[in-house]
Amino acid sequence: MLCEICGKEFKGKGFKILVEGAELTVCYSCQKFGTSSSSRSRVPRGAPPQQRGAGPAQRPRSPSPQQKARSLELVEDYNDIVKNKREEMGLSQADLGKRISEKESLIHRVETKSIRPTNKVARKLEKVLDVTLLESVGDVEVESKTSFNKGLTIGDIIKFKK
Ligand SMILES: [Zn+2]
Repeated sequence: MLCEICGKEFKGKGFKILVEGAELTVCYSCQKFGTSSSSRSRVPRGAPPQQRGAGPAQRPRSPSPQQKARSLELVEDYNDIVKNKREEMGLSQADLGKRISEKESLIHRVETKSIRPTNKVARKLEKVLDVTLLESVGDVEVESKTSFNKGLTIGDIIKFKK
């Protein structure tokens, strides 16, 4: 073996020492230049300690009140309803637009289904034309119920393992 410090040949295994973090195999006379590597832990440094149960302490679970609110949905044939009723009443698109304080082009686009009227516009059309364009959808509650019972989250499993 050759000493990694002085370069001399020596017999035997030599001495493993640490010099500024580097492990060297050296002769008997050079072992004083470093610290014995065997006295140090060989576990690689920088390994982070296992993070167990480090998840968020609190996890809000109550469904938001918004999920329970019934949502209004535009009926599928809103364009036909508006057009048929308007013609029945003998109104032009411009006339109807005036009645609900909207542009004629808006009425045109609603009737050609190129836009979906906002709830506000739909409400005005409902009032003037005496039709139903918005339907309340009740299945929102059912949907939130199923997602509520999806089962355990990873956070729950960690809690049980503690
Ligand atoms: Zn040496």
